[in-house]
Amino acid sequence: MRDVSAAPGTAVFLDRDGTLNHDTGYVTSPEQLVLFPGVPEAIARLNHLGAMVLLVTNQSAIGRGMMTIEGLESIHERLAELISPYGARIDGIFFCPHHPQDGCGCRKPKAGLIDQAVSRFALDVSQCYLVGDKRSDLEAAQRASVPGVLVMTSSYSVDVVKARDEGQVSIAYVADSFVHAVDWIEQQIISRGNRIRKNR
Ligand SMILES: [Zn+2]
Repeated sequence: MRDVSAAPGTAVFLDRDGTLNHDTGYVTSPEQLVLFPGVPEAIARLNHLGAMVLLVTNQSAIGRGMMTIEGLESIHERLAELISPYGARIDGIFFCPHHPQDGCGCRKPKAGLIDQAVSRFALDVSQCYLVGDKRSDLEAAQRASVPGVLVMTSSYSVDVVKARDEGQVSIAYVADSFVHAVDWIEQQIISRGNRIRKNR
């Protein structure tokens, strides 16, 4: 047992494709969901700290007619099956089913998915983090005032660093893997937890 737990309202938002699992273009069936090494154990560490772990994922394959909501649910059942042997769980899933041309308010880079989660779980955005591999993830985090951690785990990641260097998007931390992203977030949560405890 750790002697520090996350402050109330702490959540870690996780992008899915390219962050937790290999981005194969469109993941439309459970067999296509292949997690990166160490992902289940890293999610379990966030669970043990008492942070809510919430998926925020664009799934335009639904709006494009390539997948049904039931199909998406079967992929997320598979995700739960893959992580639960490690004591890990996802506490909530927020997805955008829309086509990019629908002009919805939830498709990242908009902040709608994060906003939905914040209001549903009464989260404190100043205690939250987001992990993602694409510019749209980091932009959504920025719009929601949540520090964004970039993982360099897909072909999209390099462009995000370039956009950061050009001042177009802010990134709180760049990690070479999801495991290292969680290492950093864990340190942040623990150091904040310590500070809160000392101030009591
Ligand atoms: Zn949407």
